[in-house]
Amino acid sequence: MHTKDPVLPLAESEKGFASAQIEFRDVTKMYGAIAAVKDLSLTVRSGEFLTILGPSGSGKSTALMLLAGFVAPTKGDILIAGRSVAAVPSYRRDQGIVFQSYALFPHLTVRRNLEFPLEMRGLKAAERAARVERMLDRVHLKEFGARMPSQLSGGQQQRVALARALIADPPILLLDEPLGALDRNLREQMQVEIKGLHKEFGKTTICVTHDQEEALTLSDRIVVMRAGRIEQTDTPEALYDRPATRFVANFLGEANVFENPELIVEADLAQPPGTVAMIRPERIGIADPSSPKRSDAGLRQSVAGVVDDVIYAGPYRKYRVRIGTQSLVVREHVTSGQQTFSPGSPVRLDWLDSDIRFVAA
Ligand code: ADP
Repeated sequence: MHTKDPVLPLAESEKGFASAQIEFRDVTKMYGAIAAVKDLSLTVRSGEFLTILGPSGSGKSTALMLLAGFVAPTKGDILIAGRSVAAVPSYRRDQGIVFQSYALFPHLTVRRNLEFPLEMRGLKAAERAARVERMLDRVHLKEFGARMPSQLSGGQQQRVALARALIADPPILLLDEPLGALDRNLREQMQVEIKGLHKEFGKTTICVTHDQEEALTLSDRIVVMRAGRIEQTDTPEALYDRPATRFVANFLGEANVFENPELIVEADLAQPPGTVAMIRPERIGIADPSSPKRSDAGLRQSVAGVVDDVIYAGPYRKYRVRIGTQSLVVREHVTSGQQTFSPGSPVRLDWLDSDIRFVAA
């Protein structure tokens, strides 16, 4: 319920929930013979920030459009705060939506853009004006109220879009690739901004993106989709550290899959049938072969290899190392006084058995 009311509250009769639980029950959306979304069952907790992550065509946008009411399910039901919304048109679903393209009204000033959702709800002019000013202040756009959207930068336009989605205090916020049109630095700033707004307003938020970093940074939980179905749902850390499938391991970060595990993994690691062994590049150590082995060698696998390729990437360095027919990517944080290796250098790689993950092939 409302613990905090950063903008003027709606009249009591108009108030829904500060945030609401969302439930997809076995939802399928067919386009002809193609299932854009297949048997989707998912509960988003009230106040949660949940990201739907997946490659292009995996059904992310369709899932969001189903929730927004822009498309109807072929089968199944969606519940908001425990009630089916099957018969509720999109404009009555009380959700704030932010699109990648901002979708601001180009012929209205920033102030009028923000006022629009309040007008739709019949708020009086004085109340609308007060809310708009507070929201402009909140998103650091106080000086920009009189501008047209075309006179704003991409980041500013997206802040207006976020403000407009939140201003009527809807219980649910939907973000469709919200940062896709911004350059990298601005994206990082806006991630901080979105996180702050989520913390402050506490809206149940569903974000759709194909950007793994965005998903990891923003979310309480991530749903990874593949070909219309959920592949795995978990917290960012659990998904990255314990991916269930090879697809998730590769989609979320970089993964070294041992194509020929007996070459590398010692027999004392019991590999479940139907899985492949995987290790993250930053879990592998790289050293000069003549340097003393690390003291916890009992737990460590240690193999000889040759550097094929080095990529310097600022805070880290990435080596591609050949071990027989296998190639492994090693990611090492750049620190002072560290030994570096060039292509052709012999190296020793080592890792802990406990950093090996078995993922469904
Ligand atoms: P994503 O958002 O993950 O890129 P979408 O939800 O847009 O994926 O699409 C999922 C699948 O459904 C794709 O194969 C896409 O081509 C198909 N699809 C989406 N919208 C339509 C539509 N309006 N008509 C026909 N096929 C569609």
